[in-house]
Amino acid sequence: MMRLSRSVVGSAEADAVTRVLCEDGYLGMGSEVQKFEEDIASFLGVPASHVVSVNSGTAALHLAAESAVGDISGAEVLIPSLTFVASFQAVRAAGAVPVACDVLEKNGLLDLQDAERRLTEHTKAVMPVHYAGNPGDLDAVYAFASKHDLRVIEDAAHAFGCQYRGRRVGSFSDVACFSFDGIKNITCGEGGCIVTSDEVIAERCRDARLLSVAKDTEKRFSGQRSWDFDVERQGWRYHMSNIMAAIGRVQLGRFEQEFAPARRELAQRYREKLRRVAGIALLEENSDTYVVPHIFPVRILDGKREFASQLLEQKGIQVGRHYKPNHLLTLFGGGRESLPIAEKLYSELLTLPLHPALTLSDIDEVCSVLIQSIR
Ligand SMILES: *Cc1c(COP(=O)(O)O)cnc(C)c1O
Repeated sequence: MMRLSRSVVGSAEADAVTRVLCEDGYLGMGSEVQKFEEDIASFLGVPASHVVSVNSGTAALHLAAESAVGDISGAEVLIPSLTFVASFQAVRAAGAVPVACDVLEKNGLLDLQDAERRLTEHTKAVMPVHYAGNPGDLDAVYAFASKHDLRVIEDAAHAFGCQYRGRRVGSFSDVACFSFDGIKNITCGEGGCIVTSDEVIAERCRDARLLSVAKDTEKRFSGQRSWDFDVERQGWRYHMSNIMAAIGRVQLGRFEQEFAPARRELAQRYREKLRRVAGIALLEENSDTYVVPHIFPVRILDGKREFASQLLEQKGIQVGRHYKPNHLLTLFGGGRESLPIAEKLYSELLTLPLHPALTLSDIDEVCSVLIQSIR
């Protein structure tokens, strides 16, 4: 069977984990996590103090939302409906109200005109989602935010290593959140991080991941514990472990030479093979982005998606649907409101296999079954 996605890990990651396990019996958040944060920071070209690692991308979004907006309780956050439910749950967990917005038909990204119509006096932040790794027109998002005095929390879970106008996503952000779960561009097993140039937000996230025990991070990085401490805010148990960090450091080392070129080459092959096929529409990437695609969704037109999906699965090719729009979920409105483009895309989108262990001939096979299915 050809899998939709998978972790690509091997003996180097295993060795790194073994080293942590056998080193000093300290598996929690210690020096390996500190090094992981330094490695991420140097990859992005930001100071290490701007990077806060946590145990999932969802935790990163939760802490970011909670820390970026002064009075988060009841604040509204604009989010494209076409995203993993993690974005919505994280905002809700912070006590805020996720406001589902429609998306652009050409790329599935936040439709700023629709978002503008949903502004109220309670709107405090916008959370663009870099769907399939595409940061889209980020300048327009930041202009929108500054015009309406909103914080920007980028859900960059799909976009690790992607660039906008020659700069890495996260390196110029208000706040950006990455995921390192098993199938993302790099993995720690599970994990995530917040990257922000706002030292106040970074400091709050650093404390909040450790139950808001003030400055506990510094202690743990130097192998100590806090005994006589104070706590002033709600905190969470969201820190990363040395085991996760050890995997992540090896993965980061493989990213530029191995994972990024593989993902890009495979996606390029899909584009070449499917570009001119009637009945299939590819999502657009603008020319000022450099995308390392986390997933490869295509639009199957003329109501043929279900048939295509079934034929691919029959031939042993796993496919996906990213995503059921969040405004259709019971907790987030149950479809009370309609977002026509998000719903249309949901009926058309089919995600094809993409991970660095696939070959070009795997891609050719997927394309030939797909093309056959819509004829
Ligand atoms: C993966 C993902 C997340 C959450 O990350 P986890 O590490 O799985 O918690 C958030 N948003 C999007 C768009 C994602 O794909």
